[in-house]
Amino acid sequence: MKALIVVDMQNDFMPSGALPTKGADALVPVINRLIDYFPLVLATQDWHPKDHNSFAVNHPEYKVGDVIREGAIEQILWPVHCVQNTKGAEFVKGLRIDRFERVFHKGIDRMVDSYSTFFDNAHLRETGLAEYLHKRGIKEIAFVGVATDYCVLYSVLDALELGFQVMVFADGCRAINLRQADGEEAFEKMTQAGAVVVTSSDFFSSEQGDC
Ligand SMILES: [Zn+2]
Repeated sequence: MKALIVVDMQNDFMPSGALPTKGADALVPVINRLIDYFPLVLATQDWHPKDHNSFAVNHPEYKVGDVIREGAIEQILWPVHCVQNTKGAEFVKGLRIDRFERVFHKGIDRMVDSYSTFFDNAHLRETGLAEYLHKRGIKEIAFVGVATDYCVLYSVLDALELGFQVMVFADGCRAINLRQADGEEAFEKMTQAGAVVVTSSDFFSSEQGDC
């Protein structure tokens, strides 16, 4: 069985949100269509306490985009986003959340950020996703969502490291692009690490061919 993992499709990552990802709202119909092709659909939510260490506002001497160091970990400082139980943390309207069999939260520890859907950035705490997939006997997973250059990238790299076969839908993801090429470079890194990057239209035609 294959699983589709929908990464962080939350209001704050949409174009009108606190940490906007250009074009992310256009992903909704793409993801909704893909959902029908996967027997198991899982989702993640960035889910921070309001005093989270990744928020620039909690470091008065720094600003958004600055990088601070916490031990061995570099932390980019972001605007306040995806605070637990706020509108910004909710899934974007129109997404078929009724098909999410389970939702995994990440970034819940105040001091440690979590880009990957599997581990926090210090690789100390698991979200439970890997264990869940193993228990269900899932070996092939596909990713869509935001942002290509952070949460999708690190999730894909961790998934490969954990031994999953990984597919990524290029037109099912959007990048933050702090630097203009970040999104494209992220896809290259995923491919180099062993992921298969496809478009949803190629996938639909191959699935039709299989029938
Ligand atoms: Zn976050």
